[in-house]
Amino acid sequence: MRYLSTRGDAEPLQFEDVLIEGLARDGGLYVPESWPQLSAEQIAGFGGRPYVEVAQAVMAPFAGGIDPPALRQIIADAYAAFRVPEVAPLTSLEAVAPNLHLLELWHGPTLAFKDVAMQVLGGLFDHVLAKRGQKVTIIGATSGDTGSAAIEAIRGRSNADIFILHPHGRTSAVQRRQMTTVDAPNVFNIAVQGTFDDCQNLLKAMFNDAAFRDEVNMSGVNSINWARLMPQIVYYMTAAVQLGGPERPVAFSVPTGNFGDVYAGYAARQMGLPVERLVIASNQNDILTRVMRTGEHALGPVTQTLAPSMDIQISSNFERLLFDMLGREGAAVAGLMDDLKRARSFRVPDAALASTGALFGAERADEAQTLETMRAVHAKTSMLMDPHTAIGVSAALADRAAHPSDTPMVVLGTAHPAKFPDAVERATGVRPPLPEHLADLYDRKESYEVLPNDLAAVQAHVRRRVAGR
Ligand SMILES: *Cc1c(COP(=O)(O)O)cnc(C)c1O
Repeated sequence: MRYLSTRGDAEPLQFEDVLIEGLARDGGLYVPESWPQLSAEQIAGFGGRPYVEVAQAVMAPFAGGIDPPALRQIIADAYAAFRVPEVAPLTSLEAVAPNLHLLELWHGPTLAFKDVAMQVLGGLFDHVLAKRGQKVTIIGATSGDTGSAAIEAIRGRSNADIFILHPHGRTSAVQRRQMTTVDAPNVFNIAVQGTFDDCQNLLKAMFNDAAFRDEVNMSGVNSINWARLMPQIVYYMTAAVQLGGPERPVAFSVPTGNFGDVYAGYAARQMGLPVERLVIASNQNDILTRVMRTGEHALGPVTQTLAPSMDIQISSNFERLLFDMLGREGAAVAGLMDDLKRARSFRVPDAALASTGALFGAERADEAQTLETMRAVHAKTSMLMDPHTAIGVSAALADRAAHPSDTPMVVLGTAHPAKFPDAVERATGVRPPLPEHLADLYDRKESYEVLPNDLAAVQAHVRRRVAGR
């Protein structure tokens, strides 16, 4: 399997190079040259099998170059760190609405769905870097959850240092502490005086600075890295087969920020899973709702909400969908991205928007709707739900009201409620306790550097720390 850049101007790479490189040299994102196909029998055969086995079957076609026993071990090690053997259990929300289900993706070490992919990514990095005798500097940007999941996956590994940029004062205290209290010599936290989009822009600028990139041997773990998305395809498959798939189509509602998770659902469908609908759930930062409804992708200011991991205007992985919508014409994607840079907006042509048919829905929930959904879910099921997941429920209900259907609708539960205790308490009056392994989080010592939103300052800091290792 080769990988192509969405902007069509970087050479195709093999899996291991895509893993280590992250972003393509032309500024684009790597996507598989073609979608591996799973037959209905193969998908049906996932029923009742252990998660690790399904994961191996789904990922192997993408991960050429990694020998199968090594891949199997990496996956097994990754999910041994989860608190439940099913990894991604499915529970009913039928007390909230008919045919509504919840996919619990928060049972990993840092309590958000990002662990599902990041734990695999950590193992893949270790394997490939050891094989090559290489050492890298991983730099990532986080709106809260990517950072802790990445640090947890990379801490203590000998062939990688990790630097994580987070927006100063804009993550929850639990999110920040999960990053800044990790005591490992290869972990460096940077609090940027700006928003998540500023952090992401700094990251992209570092990737696009070829001299810097080569000097520190830079690598990335954001969902712009294809290997981050690949493990997320798996739980769409395991959820669907539990609900009668592949004979019966299934719909998903996905709390969306950078468009990585929902794109993995799209990938599952491209591989043959009958997905009836993918609802893109947004908070007040609703650029995706607007672009899917009108084709107009216009950047606005970022608003801070109860769901900080979705406080994003530039959803990087949307470019991957655009690439398919535009008939895999890299030059056309590059043109739109130039418009975005120049005019802060672009327009998706009508034919491109129509090319995905009725697959995508897009709904937004404001703060009041988010709190009301958390409250209602708690009242009907006594379940505490984090604000991101609640936005997924709210969007699922709105989409069903507009497009009635009897197929099962699965809401992706993206975070444990204890990650956002203030919001949960505000909505329900109940403060969710942290799981045991994090019970002393507020007693641990924090360590991070506050830096201005300035490329040169951040690069100088990274250089100094790398040199000191
Ligand atoms: C990262 C995150 C999201 C958004 O996921 P994307 O793949 O960036 O769209 C939603 N909810 C939570 C809790 C997250 O951590």
